[in-house]
Amino acid sequence: MTYKYDLHSHSTASDGALSPTELVIRAKAQNVTALALTDHDTVSGLKEAIETASLMEINLIAGIELSTTWKKRCLHIVGLDIDPNSKILLDGLERQQNIRAERAKTIALKLEKKGIKGAYEAVVAASKNGMITRSHFANFLLKENHVSRGQEAFDRYLGDGKPAYVTTIWAELNDAINWIQQAGGVAVLAHPLRYKMTASWMRRLLVEFKAMGGEGIEVVTGRSSKEDIRISSNYAKKFELAGSVGSDFHTPKNQWIELGRFPQLPEGILPIWERFD
Ligand code: AMP
Ligand code: MN
Ligand code: MN
Ligand code: MN
Repeated sequence: MTYKYDLHSHSTASDGALSPTELVIRAKAQNVTALALTDHDTVSGLKEAIETASLMEINLIAGIELSTTWKKRCLHIVGLDIDPNSKILLDGLERQQNIRAERAKTIALKLEKKGIKGAYEAVVAASKNGMITRSHFANFLLKENHVSRGQEAFDRYLGDGKPAYVTTIWAELNDAINWIQQAGGVAVLAHPLRYKMTASWMRRLLVEFKAMGGEGIEVVTGRSSKEDIRISSNYAKKFELAGSVGSDFHTPKNQWIELGRFPQLPEGILPIWERFD
């Protein structure tokens, strides 16, 4: 049997459009053999995903995507093969969720100053378990016809430097890696090219990330071009990190991103799944 890993995806437990069950069914239909559910700062979708996966003969890897702050930058760290019941991890997630709740109030106030009312109530109602992301705000702005596309919500209101942007201090990178390790998982730097860092900043980051216990880097994502994969592969090799692959699937409405649909991990890079227990 040929294995097809997809180690980065989202459900309605954070900002995905599909329930954990729907996501697993879709992954199976796309011939994915091992799917990691990696919702933003929550493990609340994992139980359902694991139950559905066990009925469908697909391997479900418990995961998470943590928002972290490193030298004033926001970096996403994917944790794979974690124990969702780890006390240290759950304590950390409670802190992240408090940060998200406070941030949501501030975003809503900023939108109100722009004449947009009712955002807070709407995102609270739309989020399954109080896990509010900017995607929830984007959906609200779209639904209320303040914007005509989701991307426009980020470009006009929610993106970095825009009127409703809130500078957020997330978990320290070091703490986030620690939580993942204490939960028995491996820490992976998500979508490394999306931070738009210079080569020298990437070097600083990857040296520190490794020293802190980070083990992997996403080499292939659902949006990677050939050139992106070449650059990310070089980072993996140079800094001796294992390589991960994942679509970062959020919604069937985005026809460019599909579960399991991306090029294979290039030869010569240690696959992160060889580090799983
Ligand atoms: P948050 O973690 O609350 O800041 O929300 C970030 C989420 O919003 C990401 O995981 C993406 O799903 C989405 N997002 C961030 N930036 C953009 C963008 N420029 N366009 C569309 N979606 C975005
Ligand atoms: Mn997201
Ligand atoms: Mn991310
Ligand atoms: Mn993601």
